[in-house]
Amino acid sequence: MKKFIYIIFAIIAPLALVSCGSNSTTGSFSSPNAKVTVSQVVAPKVTVQAVLAAAEKGRYRKGELLVKFKSGVAGKAAASLHQTMGAAVERRFAAIPNLERVKLAAGMPVKDAIVRYMQDPSVEYAEPNYLRYPKNTVPNDLYFNPQQWALSNTGTFAGGTAGADIKMPQAWDFARGSRDIIVAVIDSGVDLNHPDLVNNIWRNTGEANCADGIDNDQNGFVDDCVGWNFADGNNDPMDNLGHGTHVAGIIGAMGNNGIGISGVMWNTSIMPLKFITDFGPDVCGTGADFCGSVADEVAAIQYAVNNGAKVINASFGANGFSQTEFDAINAANSAGVLFIAAAGNGTLDSLGDNNDLTPSYPANYNLPNIISVAATDQNDRRATFSNFGPNTVHVAAPGVYILSTIPSTGVSMSFSSFCTNSFNAGYDFCAGTSMAAPHVAGLAALLESYYGQFTPAQVRATVLRYVDVLPTLQGWIQTGGRINAYRAVTSLLPPSGLSASAQSSGAITLSWTDMATGEDGYKIERKTGSGEFAQIAEVAANTASYSDIGLSASTSYTYRVRAFNTIPADSLYSNEAAATTPADGSGGTNGGGGGGGCSVGGRVNRTSAFADTMVMLAPLFAVFVMSRLRRRKK
Ligand code: CA
Ligand code: CA
Repeated sequence: MKKFIYIIFAIIAPLALVSCGSNSTTGSFSSPNAKVTVSQVVAPKVTVQAVLAAAEKGRYRKGELLVKFKSGVAGKAAASLHQTMGAAVERRFAAIPNLERVKLAAGMPVKDAIVRYMQDPSVEYAEPNYLRYPKNTVPNDLYFNPQQWALSNTGTFAGGTAGADIKMPQAWDFARGSRDIIVAVIDSGVDLNHPDLVNNIWRNTGEANCADGIDNDQNGFVDDCVGWNFADGNNDPMDNLGHGTHVAGIIGAMGNNGIGISGVMWNTSIMPLKFITDFGPDVCGTGADFCGSVADEVAAIQYAVNNGAKVINASFGANGFSQTEFDAINAANSAGVLFIAAAGNGTLDSLGDNNDLTPSYPANYNLPNIISVAATDQNDRRATFSNFGPNTVHVAAPGVYILSTIPSTGVSMSFSSFCTNSFNAGYDFCAGTSMAAPHVAGLAALLESYYGQFTPAQVRATVLRYVDVLPTLQGWIQTGGRINAYRAVTSLLPPSGLSASAQSSGAITLSWTDMATGEDGYKIERKTGSGEFAQIAEVAANTASYSDIGLSASTSYTYRVRAFNTIPADSLYSNEAAATTPADGSGGTNGGGGGGGCSVGGRVNRTSAFADTMVMLAPLFAVFVMSRLRRRKK
């Protein structure tokens, strides 16, 4: 009798091995009690109406369903239904018997498929393969919620609107910045010792000794260990106004350190370059204590370019065109440095000006590395004071009630007219396009760190393209939008889980997971043997499969896929996946070489369904054999 058992196992085992779904059904094979346990669970009755209503609320994969057959439905019946639908089983699940991940016929809408599957009496339910996302990364900084509405607006601060923000928690799931990315803050200096900034201040490692009176790294500046003060010509860029410290905190206050606020980047290197100081009304003009000169500003731009900055923040401006300033920013462009400039606040009255008619510099120079930034408020409206310009102002970012870092002591009151002066020591709410620009500078630098393969032009285009277009901005600024860090950061995430599977001697099917949120399509590349990859096709956005036909028999092909957009920019490549076509007329298949995924062809699935039927029956065979054995013993 033992021999009989071995024979049964010898028959079943090889079938199980060739079946794609068999790996996941091994659990029920080895445990005859599994079915009993499951049948004790009372599942709620799922109606087609409930499934369709739920589908309205969630995002899900196109061309796929999860189908659960009723307990006891034969594999043959399930396979027959799939065949009628032109669908194919991709996976089964050990934990949930009778559940199948199904690939639908090309072009079949998910909701239509749900209705048709659920009309069949053998189906318990059919539902979309919903997408799930990582939990948004909310930092533990004390004032993050609700004060930092600009980064994540709960609608509970200052009568704001939930969601009127730049989506930082969603973006932080993917990118939080890097100390390797240097952002120059050309401003009134930065409080180098602020507890929420100190570890994100740039250090000039080339300047070996900060107090020996020698220019150790021979960059033209003596003892420049933490930036430079171009207003006073020394190595101390401490902030005596508060403006530059506020800007620096928006870009890169230390995130998730338990205190204060979080910058757009949790980690970065802020390069403090001071050119604005209290020159007084004799220099700055009546009523103005603080200002800076273009000569000092240009020296600061050159310093930033020569010492590794990738992004410059320029939260300042005025109306006079300067060829020198233009040339310096143009040189920064040639060096691949982005220049983020505040569009300016209305100067004629409390209302913003049209920069198309009344240019504000440096924001208005027609240079490809400049992003001119307008300000929005906590309700996603254009701030009334913000300059605008359908041709010359590019994007908007929050610039009202912005909480950021200020020096605890030694700050002049001049900056205070833009601030509330009503918050805890070291922090204050301030307003202005000066506060909007650093949100964009932070995002640009975040993209520089995350998309290492992007050129500065691609980074700039990504910031501008993936905005939320708002009614109050449309027609007022070029993109009509407020920046959206989540959309920008995830725009070209590389495809994952590429798998290749031979369908016949002349065809291989690829499938992958579409991760990008802003792609215009995917590029498919192929190689054979030790050859080079070459692009063989482009497919549309939101595509996750491709059939490569006209192939040679008995040949191994390797594939990789990447997303692209029309900026133009490319994502990084997916994993590589290989498959080998079978010999002509062999009838066999040889798939899943690279990705280890299941095959999706009809023949394979029939084999698979048969094997799974055998697996399902195996416990019955075992019980049958055991009972016979027991009877014999009696
Ligand atoms: Ca030096
Ligand atoms: Ca902090």
